[in-house]
Amino acid sequence: DQARAAKRHVAAFDPAVYGDPAGNLSLISELMTALRGGEVTLAYQPKYDFRAERVTGVEALMRWTHPRRGFVPPDLFIGMAEETGHIRPLTEWAIDRAIEDQRTLSAAGHDLLVSVNISGRLLADESFADLAIAAVTSAGARLCFEITETAVMTNPETALRIVSRFADAGISISLDDYGSGLSSLAYLKQIRADELKIDKAFILGLDQSARDGLLVKSTIDLAHGLGLKVTAEGVETPTALALLRGMGCDLAQGYLIGRPVSLSAMIERLAEQPQARGKTAVG
Ligand code: C2E
Ligand code: MG
Ligand code: MG
Ligand code: MG
Repeated sequence: DQARAAKRHVAAFDPAVYGDPAGNLSLISELMTALRGGEVTLAYQPKYDFRAERVTGVEALMRWTHPRRGFVPPDLFIGMAEETGHIRPLTEWAIDRAIEDQRTLSAAGHDLLVSVNISGRLLADESFADLAIAAVTSAGARLCFEITETAVMTNPETALRIVSRFADAGISISLDDYGSGLSSLAYLKQIRADELKIDKAFILGLDQSARDGLLVKSTIDLAHGLGLKVTAEGVETPTALALLRGMGCDLAQGYLIGRPVSLSAMIERLAEQPQARGKTAVG
């Protein structure tokens, strides 16, 4: 079960990393306890395909509700887990969870691509890659790994090799938060990716800013020229959705389509949309 799987990952972790001067040690050890106790969960956010006119994928987003502190923002605890080396057991847990949830979705009649965020730090870790590939291939899962460019910048040789290994194993690769960093053309030229995800900073401004519109449109054209699909994240308004459709964007993700929700809520929501063809409420 879930708690036992989590325990296995935590036990595999070497706690020699301790000594965090910022005093976040307690929060991190609480996070590991929370993972063992099933307090960490995955929320799912839909990705809407313009051409298919339905949700064809979901992104798994980690959630931690602390018994006293309440909701802890992922940017905070993921960042801390990255700094202390705890991101690996968390991510291994997330991959196993996502594989199992994909099966549950499939049993409910929804065959969806499930995306998991992979921290840049892990793109320097060959043994993590071995484990992730083994988990995905042995389950016959259809996953997408969302990665950001930072790792590829700091240790390009290893990161590009690991990404290629993922791609060889049939895992889709998405370039997350595209445009928020330095996003060089060399990065796009070298990396084996299937999807480019335009950072929400550009999408949130789409309604008001002609400059954002120009940047988004040219990024879509660039990505298509390279054979990549494009997802826009942060779609909050019908105007943004319509603009993106007109620009030829492939997929949209954002509060307008749906907020991140529990697996069971996602299944309920998907039951409202015709699976094979036809329109959803978001059209
Ligand atoms: P991300 O992968 O870029 O995920 C998108 C973030 O944008 C999510 O925030 C999502 O809830 C939020 N979002 C979605 N639609 C909208 C919208 O319409 N408007 C606005 N303003 N925001 C929207 P969240 O869940 O707080 O996650 C933040 C970041 O934490 C993620 O950014 C990702 O980098 C990281 N993260 C979350 N879960 C995991 C995980 O399992 N592993 C790793 N390594 N990182 C994770
Ligand atoms: Mg992401
Ligand atoms: Mg993103
Ligand atoms: Mg992000």
